[in-house]
Amino acid sequence: MSENSLPAIGIPRALLYYRYGALWEHFFRALGVSTVLSPPGSRGLLEAGAALAPDEGCLSLKMFIGHVDALIGRCERIFIPRYSNYGYTELFCTRYEALYDQARNIFRSSGQRFITCNIDVQNGSPEGAAYERLGVELGHGARESRRAWREASRALEQRQKAEERAQKERVKQPGMKVLVAGHSYILSDPYMGKPVLDQLEKAGAVSLRADALEPETARKACARFSPTCRWIVSEEIVGGVSLWKEKVDGIILVSAFPCGPDSMTNELLIRRIKGIPILTLVLDTQSGTAGVETRLESFLDIIRFQRGEGV
Ligand code: SF4
Repeated sequence: MSENSLPAIGIPRALLYYRYGALWEHFFRALGVSTVLSPPGSRGLLEAGAALAPDEGCLSLKMFIGHVDALIGRCERIFIPRYSNYGYTELFCTRYEALYDQARNIFRSSGQRFITCNIDVQNGSPEGAAYERLGVELGHGARESRRAWREASRALEQRQKAEERAQKERVKQPGMKVLVAGHSYILSDPYMGKPVLDQLEKAGAVSLRADALEPETARKACARFSPTCRWIVSEEIVGGVSLWKEKVDGIILVSAFPCGPDSMTNELLIRRIKGIPILTLVLDTQSGTAGVETRLESFLDIIRFQRGEGV
């Protein structure tokens, strides 16, 4: 804790937290920097975010702004990295890149301080160098910051390997299996995607996730399935679907309204995958997951029918 007893860094538990959270937490811990996480996603956070975010923002952005709002005044600085690209052909959704400036603008009169780091290989700022600069900005040496980033990267890799291993065990379970594909920040959020996974389990299906794969493996699989996909996270979802699809009875594509990348990749998946029932669920601010239950039940009935289980 700092002198005024607030944690030094606040981390919004949304968007890229669900991809890089293990890295961020390990990085700050290795430098002895205290952190606080915003509470788990909820209707209240989404409503708060929706009231503050631009109307045209996607559901995930609105939820993110709600998380930032929950951290205002609860930490010295809120950490919002700008993830732009890993190179000319490896791009992130542009919303990730704009988050830091957007949040600073939305909360400009709050007096809250923010901190970022720029991951932008196209403009000479690779990930390691960006985190090294972040460590230095927080008052640590370059060497110490580099070491913290290396350790944090290993922690993230281990987390990803563990998730893939756990899913390989789940896929061996008997019974109907349904693959759920979507951004990790949708599927892991307790208000947005998690109810879909919970309902599947409640209905007796084994739910698998397309994002439970090491990113490198998923991107290679995507390159074989569709070499023109350009957004890194979308590539990983497509790669995950292409690898797990043989082992499941049905696929559910879960998206946040209005997501540009998903509108293209979902179309690609629907056109290319044959012989497996696919359900598309688009979540928006108004409905959340309301009405999803009925659609899921009908979808599971179709799968049961196809499996010869009768309905
Ligand atoms: S990928 Fe889609 S859901 Fe995610 S931030 Fe971009 S527009 Fe929103």
